[in-house]
Amino acid sequence: MSAQDELLQQILAAVTSLQTENKSISDSVSTLTDRVNRLAIQTAAPPPHGSPIINPIYRSSQGTTGGVTPSIGDPAIGSSGTPSVEEPVAKGEAAAAKQGRSSMYSSRIILTTYPSQSGIDPLVMDWGNGDPQKRGPVVVNRGSTTIRRRNAIGAHGGSYSFYNALAVAIQELSLDHKPDYANTQPAAQIGPYPQWGDGKKIVAMDPFGHLPPWLYKDLIENEGVDIRPTIAITKAHMRLPELEQSVRDGRLSVDGKIVLNEFGEVAVTKVAVEPVWYLPGVAERFGIDEGLLRRSLFENTGGSFPELITRQDIKIFMPPIGGLTVYIFGDPAKTADPNAKLALRIHDECNGSDVFGSDICTCRPYLIFGVEEAVKEAQKGGSGVVIYFRKEGRALGEVTKYLVYNARKRGTDKASEYFQRTSNIAGVKDMRFQALMPDILHWLGITKIDRMLSMSNMKHDAIVEQGIPILERVPIPDEMIPADSRVEIDAKIHAGYFTTGKILSMEELSNVQGRSWEDVDVSYTPLSPSLPQLLLAEMEVNPKPPPSSSRDVHIHTRRRP
Ligand SMILES: [Zn+2]
Repeated sequence: MSAQDELLQQILAAVTSLQTENKSISDSVSTLTDRVNRLAIQTAAPPPHGSPIINPIYRSSQGTTGGVTPSIGDPAIGSSGTPSVEEPVAKGEAAAAKQGRSSMYSSRIILTTYPSQSGIDPLVMDWGNGDPQKRGPVVVNRGSTTIRRRNAIGAHGGSYSFYNALAVAIQELSLDHKPDYANTQPAAQIGPYPQWGDGKKIVAMDPFGHLPPWLYKDLIENEGVDIRPTIAITKAHMRLPELEQSVRDGRLSVDGKIVLNEFGEVAVTKVAVEPVWYLPGVAERFGIDEGLLRRSLFENTGGSFPELITRQDIKIFMPPIGGLTVYIFGDPAKTADPNAKLALRIHDECNGSDVFGSDICTCRPYLIFGVEEAVKEAQKGGSGVVIYFRKEGRALGEVTKYLVYNARKRGTDKASEYFQRTSNIAGVKDMRFQALMPDILHWLGITKIDRMLSMSNMKHDAIVEQGIPILERVPIPDEMIPADSRVEIDAKIHAGYFTTGKILSMEELSNVQGRSWEDVDVSYTPLSPSLPQLLLAEMEVNPKPPPSSSRDVHIHTRRRP
């Protein structure tokens, strides 16, 4: 060892020792701060009616932290001299604490965290590692025993995470609740496939998401880390009236295994998947910089996730959006079998048509066609898969969708103007961006698609770009297209959707016209474009009577000029 090396070793040892000391001091300060907080609350007012003493950090009944949970966000203990990351508690919370009422949260709010902060010790996350133990679990919760080990931003449950927050707020759900996963294990074995260990192939879901309670049992039970599944696999029967008709018409036959009876009842394996985004991979799919992606996610969600900015070391984000469901007909292992034929439909949610039978689009008919073809392929010894993505109204949502419908029906509903109507309102014609969609195909071990039951060029291109060839594209049969939905399907074909039929010219498209509202009985509802003004006028003529409450309530109505 050279003298220089020796010197470096000495410096390293000194730095390590300093770090250890610093952490020890930080932890002591944290413990003291915590005690002072608790004392302050206890001396402010004694708990009434002998209610238990408040733990100002978490209302924990488990006692796993011994009541000295490190205050990760304490600016005094930030080892890097980072700015304050806390705010005084909300007035209501402080008042509740002063009155000695039980508070379920910390007396200080941790607005964000920083990588170098004392107490921050995220669990290892080596995305793309095929060994789940080396890869590490996805940990996102902020509970007292988990917050310092987090390696993900966001929340479990996608859009339902907000109902979870409500349930906690109204104290229907305890922060201490520990899920009991007995008998919840997957109902079918899927994988593991080599794709699970390829960090480029799967970037928007956790390939081990159906296994955490069993893979990371030790961490959950011994260290109290809250680790939850993001995937669940179950089995069910499904019954669609159209399939009953298919059996009656002889298009589907009863085999007692996949098609169970003359009612067209079908056996199915179902997989529910919540989104888990590996941010560098997601950015790469869209060909953008990870920093730009983080900034946009932060800014355009009302600044909801500051750790997207402050925790560059955390690479995983669980966005509050809808996930997907996979419906597998026949043996689930066959999806990955290169010798078994695969029929696949990728379907994006359209509640109005899928569930309520609207005839303005081809969604439900195409979905049913997809299910029927998938079932047929499975019956022939191959594999049939339908994947249902929660991307309502081209991921623009139902409100935008209905505004578009109104604009279409109040104008002349022409195929030539179909996409422009959406762009006028939403600024884009489609926000489904299929780049992340093929992840689920990789997860199912799919290496080729024999029959793709979709006409979408965007879905086709995204799949092929991921190295999965599509051998045949199958459009929806003409007889299944509702008359009013010709506007949509012809416009889509013109814009690049696959067809074996005719691609209409722009002039021909202007002759494809949908039903106007005049065809519908509208006698019970005014259809004037001045409807909002009419409503306001009516409200002024018939103001609501003041509430007969003992309290002094004033309602101010601004009169329109
Ligand atoms: Zn639709």
